[in-house]
Amino acid sequence: MCAQRATVFFYKHETVVVIGDGEEAYKDILYLSSLCTKVYWVPLKRTQTLSDDPGVSICQKENVECLEQQVPIGFSTDSEGLINGLQLQKAGETYLLPCKGVFLAIGHTNSQAFKGFVEMDEQGYISIADKAVCTNVPGVFAAGDCVDRRYRQAVVAASMGAQAALEAKSWLREHHE
Ligand SMILES: Cc1cc2nc3c(=O)[nH]c(=O)nc-3n(C[C@H](O)[C@H](O)[C@H](O)COP(=O)(O)OP(=O)(O)OC[C@H]3O[C@@H](n4cnc5c(N)ncnc54)[C@H](O)[C@@H]3O)c2cc1C
Repeated sequence: MCAQRATVFFYKHETVVVIGDGEEAYKDILYLSSLCTKVYWVPLKRTQTLSDDPGVSICQKENVECLEQQVPIGFSTDSEGLINGLQLQKAGETYLLPCKGVFLAIGHTNSQAFKGFVEMDEQGYISIADKAVCTNVPGVFAAGDCVDRRYRQAVVAASMGAQAALEAKSWLREHHE
């Protein structure tokens, strides 16, 4: 689950873990540290030292603790299947870190499937007309995360999907009837 949704209800005053690096992880840690009692951060770039990393200022928050050089290897769950711990490996030893939630801030890669077919920007998002779902190719409409560099939310993707379907229907009506 990503950190900035539904967390208020489930994780307020709880202990959580964020796994990952970069802007995504930092945003999640900042947000969660304002809600949760304790936030453990497991960075994945194990060769990087904290002093080279903007994450160092996050670790100065008193309820954030960075677990460097540790490898997540599994979860433990309670009798209802809910997470109650993260298994970590440190210097070859495995231990269980009790926590209520684990957030994977590992980013995403845009699909390159449409490269060369429709216009895309330098970050791999499909370019669409302002406030519409039209690509540069007539009759091809794009919706959801592949065009949305700002929100990347299910409800936004669903709404854009409906717009794209309506646009496609009108385009077909106009060109093929
Ligand atoms: C960990 C995580 C947690 C999230 N939590 C929330 C949340 O709590 N609330 C919320 O609103 N949003 C959440 N999101 C965001 C939400 O999942 C996305 O915004 C939404 O799924 C985008 O829908 P989409 O249809 O655009 O893309 P997707 O759901 O990614 O669907 C794209 C589909 O295209 C398929 N595909 C890709 N390439 C090809 C290809 N070459 N050929 C054929 N098929 C292909 C993929 O397999 C996939 O099935 C979360 C995302 C992540 C990663």
